[in-house]
Amino acid sequence: MEYLSDEVIFMVDKSGRFTYISKNVEKYGYKPEEVIGKHFMEFIHESEKETMKNRFEKALELIKEYNYYEEIYKTRVITKNGNSINALVHVYYLKDFGTFLCILKDITDKENLIDKLRALNRKMFLLKNIIRRNIVALDIISHDILNQIFSLKNYVEILKGYNLSPEIMNVLNRMEDCIERIIEIVRDSIKLAKLQKISDFKKIDMNLRKLVETVIKSLENKAKKKNIEIINNVNEIVVKLNPIFINVIENLLDNAIKYSYENSKVIIESKELDGKVRIYVKDFGIGIPDEYKEKIFKRFERKSKEGIKGTGLGLAIVKRIVELHGGRVWVEDNKPRGSVFIVEIPR
Ligand code: ADP
Repeated sequence: MEYLSDEVIFMVDKSGRFTYISKNVEKYGYKPEEVIGKHFMEFIHESEKETMKNRFEKALELIKEYNYYEEIYKTRVITKNGNSINALVHVYYLKDFGTFLCILKDITDKENLIDKLRALNRKMFLLKNIIRRNIVALDIISHDILNQIFSLKNYVEILKGYNLSPEIMNVLNRMEDCIERIIEIVRDSIKLAKLQKISDFKKIDMNLRKLVETVIKSLENKAKKKNIEIINNVNEIVVKLNPIFINVIENLLDNAIKYSYENSKVIIESKELDGKVRIYVKDFGIGIPDEYKEKIFKRFERKSKEGIKGTGLGLAIVKRIVELHGGRVWVEDNKPRGSVFIVEIPR
């Protein structure tokens, strides 16, 4: 990543001595050759020595136990002329080499930090779009993406711990939001990618009313926040379902809450037809105009919804699961307002 280019990269062995340091350490007055071989503690500011000593001991213990170590922390480093800089250090243990790989970022200059955060922010939006367009390959690379994103999340959390200006805090909060969104998109994408691959799956007898009850419990807090009552009018019927069907109910009820006004209700009910069962999820919220009624079941199709968070994948997942059960799903207008999502599956 381009924003890493001004970062100093170095390696430290298990005795704490430098085995490598990038040439740009020169901007702090040191020549790489005078650093290599020295103990890293010589470069740590007095105020941080104790913490760093403990941190290093802890790292060695963790490596002994798990052969794994990764951490991001902030510290203070002394420059050649005796000044100090605030640094953010990302440390990975490279188990194949038995050594630590570290990336040090100078965060002394806050003005500079704003620019870097902005650039990072732009990159994250780009990343979000790339992920959206390349959903198919995601199944394979998702693990790597999630790892990267979780370390980015750590990074932002650490920066938020600083006493930074409201302007930077604002950028950090937006970044955090964006990171959350990326994590959700990646997770939902993996789910969908997996669902696209299978053609049929095992079904077991499930009590529909109980299934709905479980989902309602899990959404209780969300509903409470908007003072929405969820009414379960589903009959005690047994239907052949794969346990993944719970995602259908979850997504539909979650949307019903999301797109409802405060102090309203959501009703879920069922109807038995000839060899089929229908599930109705009714809300009294913002409703869906006719021109969106089909589109919303496609990936990433979202009506403009100021302030409402989502990935635009929920209904695509619902549709796929319902189809795998040999059923169909569609949406109609509710009376006097809102929407009714109808799921029809064979019994
Ligand atoms: P999202 O993560 O955006 O909620 P979904 O795939 O679950 O993604 O839904 C796609 C779009 O369908 C939403 O962005 C919203 O515009 C619309 N939508 C879904 N459920 C409802 C509902 N109950 N009421 C109004 N609009 C809805």
